[in-house]
Amino acid sequence: MALFTHPEFDGHETVVFAQNGGDGLRTIIAVHDTTLGPALGGCRVWNYADEAEALTDVLRLSRSMSYKAALAGLPLGGGKSVVLADSRRDKTEAMMRAMGRAVERLGGRYIVAEDVGVSVADMDAVATETRHVAGTTETAGDPSPHTARGVCLSIEAAARRRLGRGLDGLEVTVLGLGHVGARLAAMLAEAGARLAVADIRPEAVAEVARTTGARGIGVDEAHQAEADVFAPCALGAGLNARTIPEIGAQIVCGAANNQLAQPGDDRRLAEAGILYCPDYLVNAGGLISVARGVTGDDDAAIAARVEGIPATLKAVIERAETEDMPPGAAADSLARSRIEEARRA
Ligand code: NAD
Repeated sequence: MALFTHPEFDGHETVVFAQNGGDGLRTIIAVHDTTLGPALGGCRVWNYADEAEALTDVLRLSRSMSYKAALAGLPLGGGKSVVLADSRRDKTEAMMRAMGRAVERLGGRYIVAEDVGVSVADMDAVATETRHVAGTTETAGDPSPHTARGVCLSIEAAARRRLGRGLDGLEVTVLGLGHVGARLAAMLAEAGARLAVADIRPEAVAEVARTTGARGIGVDEAHQAEADVFAPCALGAGLNARTIPEIGAQIVCGAANNQLAQPGDDRRLAEAGILYCPDYLVNAGGLISVARGVTGDDDAAIAARVEGIPATLKAVIERAETEDMPPGAAADSLARSRIEEARRA
């Protein structure tokens, strides 16, 4: 299995492979960059097909955490960890404590947080072995309202830029009505937007329709709905070669992570005349809130950082226009410049 020549290897500072026999822990911790601060990133417990798949995931995800923190203006670097295990079958308290010891050995260069397959209770187990943990019972708050607010502000900024109008009367389709999507729908409705909403859970659609006056539509037709903005807030990659030509909105701006199925889908969206607002930039409110234990931010400071997201989005869109690149690539490029500047300072 290649490392230095791995396609996702990006000069990562440290990649640690740890196995604690008795506890069943097999983990890879990737610290991508600590120029801006300690590398904060989630621990994902996943039943990977093999070690190569786990390595690819942790290298890719840790790099995107560096970019996300840099664009959010946080004094943090990027890191990620993966535990090769089935979270329902194999995960134990002893395993999570062993994970805590592996994190502790990095001396604070990596700060572990929740991700897929990990609960606040698991973070509590990790915290018995290390201080370098965010999102324990003591420190965890719900990040979703901050995420939803950042997305709502970004939708407004994108609509002003592309359509020359604000949220009042704006037509928005929200796909996925969980913690973030339902709150986003409420915020948009409050500001006068007209909503179409979809979710695989009919009860979630019924509830949001009742409280916001939204029109419920089918999950499969959501991306096609004629609207000003399409806001993906469900799971997984929804934007791909098949769906992009069908998109009925002029702007895509939502909370879902990893919206683009392939890196080239960014260009595909631009060529279709659609303004894509990079997911990891507009959904950074969650990271900003989870990082509070490291940044020392209080509620007002968190709100101020979240309110800064639209200005960064504007800078990304301008860079995309002047350098003739799609917004996702422009976001990566701006993040890299911020890290480089800090490295030289
Ligand atoms: P959630 O689990 O609370 O909600 C997800 C919603 O999507 C659920 O209502 C679910 O029924 C629905 N859903 C799942 N698959 C679907 C499908 N195929 N079609 C339509 N609906 C579907 O999750 P969340 O916390 O609201 O997060 C939503 C997205 O935003 C995720 O991609 C998450 O990674 C991302 N995100 C969340 C935060 C946060 O603060 N919670 C921060 C950053 C990014």
